[in-house]
Amino acid sequence: MLDWLVIGGGVHGTYLSNVLVNALGAERERVRVLDPHAEPLAAWRSRARNCAMDFLRSPGVHHIDVEPFSLLRYARSEAAPPTAELWGRYQHPSLCLFEAHSRAVIERSRLEQLRTRGELRRLRTTTGGYRAETTHGELYARRVLLAIGPPAQLEWPVWARAAREQGASIEHLFGERDPLANLAAHEHVLVVGSGCSAAHAALHASRHAGSTTWLTRTPLRGAEYDSEPGWLGPKHLSAFGHERSAVRRRDAITRARQPGSLPERLQHAVKLALRHERLQHLLGDDPRVERAENGRLRVRLHEHTLEHRFDRIVLATGFSRARPGGAWLNAVADELGLPVAPCGYPLLAPTLEWTRGLFVCGQLAELELGPTARNIGGARLAAERLERAGVAA
Ligand SMILES: Cc1cc2nc3c(=O)[nH]c(=O)nc-3n(C[C@H](O)[C@H](O)[C@H](O)COP(=O)(O)OP(=O)(O)OC[C@H]3O[C@@H](n4cnc5c(N)ncnc54)[C@H](O)[C@@H]3O)c2cc1C
Repeated sequence: MLDWLVIGGGVHGTYLSNVLVNALGAERERVRVLDPHAEPLAAWRSRARNCAMDFLRSPGVHHIDVEPFSLLRYARSEAAPPTAELWGRYQHPSLCLFEAHSRAVIERSRLEQLRTRGELRRLRTTTGGYRAETTHGELYARRVLLAIGPPAQLEWPVWARAAREQGASIEHLFGERDPLANLAAHEHVLVVGSGCSAAHAALHASRHAGSTTWLTRTPLRGAEYDSEPGWLGPKHLSAFGHERSAVRRRDAITRARQPGSLPERLQHAVKLALRHERLQHLLGDDPRVERAENGRLRVRLHEHTLEHRFDRIVLATGFSRARPGGAWLNAVADELGLPVAPCGYPLLAPTLEWTRGLFVCGQLAELELGPTARNIGGARLAAERLERAGVAA
């Protein structure tokens, strides 16, 4: 029987497997990370590349190594690729630097060897732990850590679904195909959605396509982080931790998160692109999309007052608003009789335990870790909880 079975080998699962083995004293032979992808961080990497992200929004101390200054030291070392960069006061890493550092950490700590390829389908209790039924067969573990990331479903607005059903060329930025690939200089592109991913995508298209229009539902607004840094420490987390009501905790998370906001670096790049007319910004919702005679897409906004024609539409609308885990997680909660908040998220102990031996991190642990739970910094908060609880050995 394993000591730890980590479900999900993305940013959180890979980092926490590193912490378990290299900081909390777990025996590496008794730790497994179950993930459907061939490589660690694969889901993260494809999303970051699809939206043509250049720099991370998070600071240089947020990464997948145990020691906080590891990435900053790596950036100054000879091992760092020449295109690896740090930007600004908080030393935001370029995607290239973050990826090179992640690869170096994975290699040094042999984290690939901890992985088993497959997906969890069902979780049952068994003597002394859990039996995980996976696409790879059964695995037995004393403790299970759910690190499953965002919901598998992407957010497809109703109008976009309807247009796609009529054969319109609409792709989601986080879908299987890379919707920004092979942009041609004669193409007219519409990027829909607000926030960093949309901004990165719109800026990329503005450099490669004939024209790029960016449609957002709300005006562009700035914020350095998607929630205030005080949520990574006691400033906000201690009051949050004292709040007993899950409904009020959810309200606090909703108030604290600033979805759709852009950090200064991106605001500046967007302003320049707008000023030089490489990018146009439109404010509006629920566009009507029809296929025009020439194969282009006719997009009408504001009761026919504006009409534009595009060759492709790229959705940067993020993930479904549903709780991650879908039906299989509902079944786990039902079968094990686990407490769930009205918003559907797990109600966890401060140790991040949902029930004895079943731990949760990432977005799914929001009601315990607050609005940064899903970010890379949230993985550090999770590690601190596991360490404080002394659960590793
Ligand atoms: C474009 C983009 C940019 C971002 N930039 C930043 C940033 O700069 N800074 C920051 O702090 N945060 C950022 N985030 C937010 C967050 O850090 C990332 O979403 C990060 O990938 C979350 O890590 P994760 O491990 O929770 O999820 P993921 O990286 O998605 O990993 C989850 C893994 O679990 C697997 N999984 C799911 N279900 C199962 C199952 N049943 N069985 C087995 N495996 C399963 C998935 O296949 C996946 O491999 C960004 C997010 C996006 C989308």
